[in-house]
Amino acid sequence: MKAFNHENAKTLAEARNALAGGKTEIIAGGTDLIGRLKDNVLPDKMYPATLINIKTVTPSLDYIKEEAGVLKIGATTRLADIASSQAIFQKYTALAQAASRVATPHVRDMGTIGGNIAQLHRCWYFRKPENRFDCIRKGGTTCFAMMGDNRYHSIFGNVNKCIAVHPSDIAPALIALNASVVTNMRKINAENFFDVKFPSNTVLGIGEIIMEIQVPMPPAGAKSAFMKFAIRKSIDFPIVNCAVMVGGGAARIALNAVAPKPYRATKAEAAIAGKPINEATAEAAGSAAMEDAKPLAATKYKVQIAKTLVKRALLAANA
Ligand SMILES: Cc1cc2nc3c(=O)[nH]c(=O)nc-3n(C[C@H](O)[C@H](O)[C@H](O)COP(=O)(O)OP(=O)(O)OC[C@H]3O[C@@H](n4cnc5c(N)ncnc54)[C@H](O)[C@@H]3O)c2cc1C
Ligand code: SF4
Repeated sequence: MKAFNHENAKTLAEARNALAGGKTEIIAGGTDLIGRLKDNVLPDKMYPATLINIKTVTPSLDYIKEEAGVLKIGATTRLADIASSQAIFQKYTALAQAASRVATPHVRDMGTIGGNIAQLHRCWYFRKPENRFDCIRKGGTTCFAMMGDNRYHSIFGNVNKCIAVHPSDIAPALIALNASVVTNMRKINAENFFDVKFPSNTVLGIGEIIMEIQVPMPPAGAKSAFMKFAIRKSIDFPIVNCAVMVGGGAARIALNAVAPKPYRATKAEAAIAGKPINEATAEAAGSAAMEDAKPLAATKYKVQIAKTLVKRALLAANA
């Protein structure tokens, strides 16, 4: 592992100034970043010289509060605190359920909500130690997954020639709950926060820091739920996950690990709009969610999993 300077930012302004100079990257829990740096995943030119810790800033970004009907979660709030918050579970159920399904207790104790939505993808060619596959997401010309083993990759094609899926469990919950990401520069609807860049997975610009997640109170009568399919119950990233919010006029359905960006299933939403949720309508929504799927030979199995998760999440929210 290369050597890094590690600085504890005292204020957000200090962190922003450090980032503006380039060659500096934010560190929060470090559960994504440190592994990536330790394994020398990226080309040398993409390595930071300094890690700037934002868990030390005052005022702290570690909080969960409700103000004027909006749930506000500071960026450095740990996933464990979100998973165990009764206030979040009661009104924003999908988010608490999603947080509780991330990884393991240890990762949830270290990992933050800001880091979770800014984490990089898990494509095994991309993550291979010592930068053995200089793929398109690192500035190369080849997508090795397209030619190789892509069993965990996209079922909705590529974005910018990359078929790696977005791995976050938190992202679809935020989209289903119509949340926003507040940075030191702007407020972004969660649905528009994700991108496929070189190598980032967000629309964040240089010097831009996630400060807070804002989730509006669901409409009266609306309920939400999160479902995940993974190889093992604990530690594994999703093969597919799904979050929904239905009732009270709401019909929002989001999936992840099916495309390079979290996927809003608008056709499924249209299929249930104005209808009661039952076995038949939930199943029809699952099929509608997959209407535009174009799986690879090795990812066809994910289509049935996604259909089933949409159905089960709708029935769970409606229970
Ligand atoms: C073994 C293992 C299993 C996992 N399983 C799952 C899983 O099942 N589901 C799932 O969703 N995730 C999973 N993860 C990913 C994990 O949830 C993330 O690593 C974690 O949430 C990242 O948070 P962090 O605070 O540790 O981020 P860090 O590692 O500190 O940072 C990650 C990235 O986000 C950037 N960043 C962090 N905070 C901010 C901010 N406030 N503003 C701007 N940029 C920021 C950093 O610069 C870095 O690029 C797993 C990770 C591991 C190691
Ligand atoms: S899927 Fe994306 S990250 Fe993986 S090898 Fe292809 S371009 Fe690289």
